[in-house]
Amino acid sequence: VSDPDAALVRSWLAAAVDPAIAAGLEAVYTHASVEIARRGPTCWTSGKCCNFTAYGHRLYTTGLEAAYALTRLPAPDAASNAPASARPPRLTVLTPAKSLDACPFQVDKLCTVHAIRPMGCRVYFCDKTAQSWQHELSETLMHEIRALHDARALEYRYAEWRWLLDLFTPYLPPR
Ligand code: SF4
Repeated sequence: VSDPDAALVRSWLAAAVDPAIAAGLEAVYTHASVEIARRGPTCWTSGKCCNFTAYGHRLYTTGLEAAYALTRLPAPDAASNAPASARPPRLTVLTPAKSLDACPFQVDKLCTVHAIRPMGCRVYFCDKTAQSWQHELSETLMHEIRALHDARALEYRYAEWRWLLDLFTPYLPPR
C-alpha cells in the first residue's frame, strides 16, 4: 500500500467514527430503507448476489462506507456466543479478500454485517420488479453520500468492495 493510500485509509477511518459523519451516513441508509419499504421488492435471502463470481455480480462502494462497516465489526469476545451467521470473519493480509469468489462477510448464506453493510448491498435486489427503480434510487443515495464527503472535504472514492477491504486490512486493529 503506497503512502497516499495509507493517508486515504486513515482519513476514512477517522471520518467513520466522527459522530456527525456517521449520523449523516446512517441518515442515507434510513432513506434507503424507507424508499425500499415503499416499493416492497422481494428478497429470497438466497445469498446468491454476495457470491460475486458465481453470480457475475460486483459490489462497488465508497471508502467511507467500507470504513464505517470495518470500524463497527463486533469484537470476537462480544460475539463468541453468537451463531456463525452473526460472526464476521477476520480479514487477513494472508488471504486477501480479492482472492475470494464471494464476499468475506457472507457465512452460511447470510450477511454477518447486515446492520452496517454498504448502500450497494441495501439497494440491490434480483427481483425483476426492482430493475425499474433501483438504478435511480442508487444514484440518488450516492449523491447524498457524495455530498457528505464534499461538506467535509473528504476524499471520495468509489471502488470494488473486496479491493477496498484489502486496502483497509493492514490498518485494522486486531479483533
Ligand atoms: S456485506 Fe453482506 S450483503 Fe453485502 S455483499 Fe457482503 S455478505 Fe452480501
